[in-house]
Amino acid sequence: MTVAAPAGVPPGLEHVMSISMGSSAAELPPAGHPGGHTPPPAGHPGGHTPSPAGHPGGHTPSPAGPARNIAVLAEHPATASTEPEPGWADEVRRLARERDALILAHNDQAPAIQDVADHVGDSLALSRLAAASSARVIVFAGVYFMAETAKILAPDRTVLIPDARAGCSLADAITAEQVREWKAAHPGAAVVAYVNTSAGVKAEADVCCTSANAVDIVAAIPAGREILFLPDQFLGAYVRRVTGRDDIHVWLGECHVHAGISPQELRRRAAEWADAELFIHPECGCSTAALWQAGTGDLPAERTRVLSTGGMLAAARQTKAPAVLVATETGMLHQLRRANPAVHWEAVNPRAVCPYMKMTTPAALLRSLREGVEEVRVDPATAARARQAVETMISVGRPSAVGE
Ligand code: SF4
Repeated sequence: MTVAAPAGVPPGLEHVMSISMGSSAAELPPAGHPGGHTPPPAGHPGGHTPSPAGHPGGHTPSPAGPARNIAVLAEHPATASTEPEPGWADEVRRLARERDALILAHNDQAPAIQDVADHVGDSLALSRLAAASSARVIVFAGVYFMAETAKILAPDRTVLIPDARAGCSLADAITAEQVREWKAAHPGAAVVAYVNTSAGVKAEADVCCTSANAVDIVAAIPAGREILFLPDQFLGAYVRRVTGRDDIHVWLGECHVHAGISPQELRRRAAEWADAELFIHPECGCSTAALWQAGTGDLPAERTRVLSTGGMLAAARQTKAPAVLVATETGMLHQLRRANPAVHWEAVNPRAVCPYMKMTTPAALLRSLREGVEEVRVDPATAARARQAVETMISVGRPSAVGE
């Protein structure tokens, strides 16, 4: 079955999309299907319900996901307030001490949330910090799959997420059921799952990867063994090009935020800011399209740097450039500005804002600490299999995109 590559598929990649399709593969989600994160059903504490299955091998677009979540956000009493109560940050710190809680904030969280957290970083770095910490409670200010990853690596800890509806369009691009069907169509293939996946999907994978180590992970798989790479089509395309392997099948997932950092936009902004360096952050799926583009010679090589979070912060302190364009979700700018206030930091696309990430408000964080919600639970058997995939990654490649 031939499936048209969605808009934004890197040129020349169309033939890579050799996804084996079942008979129902042509059944795209019905119009209006959010394709995004489905909140836990009422009465199901902390449980994660992935996007509806039933579209084996098919791409599940998620254009309506963010909008839907924003609508939900407006209705939710715990998070609808945009005015934090006075002294909220002090109260968060007091409650954290009282509950022996460690607050972890992803780089893309709002500045106020980053500032009140114990640690700020990428999802895997934070999950590993959770596992290494002795805190009884982990509050993960991020999106759901990240909190799940923390739970996978720290199963004996109580893991809370301030708003359990904070999903991820990339993680929701594939379900565990879809992975099983894909595997059945490619017996013996190795499954490589980007960390932006649910616990159920990780449990179906042989090994996880980050954007920084994806090439190493794939290169470590013996030639001749087919590879199923999921869910990010841009990272998959990049890995395929760098490794030169033609036995990699790539799932057609994408992050709706990185779609806002288009190749045209990147090229236009780089030309507009002739003196600026260009920092491209490959983590979180937000700029994997840019990562792919950087390797094509389409951007000024002498000014373009693909950097992890740690690498970006180190480069921020050292750069002599008057301005730096940053291709990632805009949350990262907060840390960069703090690292080097003398530089003009400019987002490639100021609208590259992940609404899921911004669902963690001061009110939601306070509620999380006060009420001990929302608890993230992962079935122990699923967690054990998912942990194996993460640990295999750590044993093979560099552990994370971040310079932890
Ligand atoms: S910005 Fe990150 S968390 Fe948000 S949808 Fe994209 S990949 Fe998911």
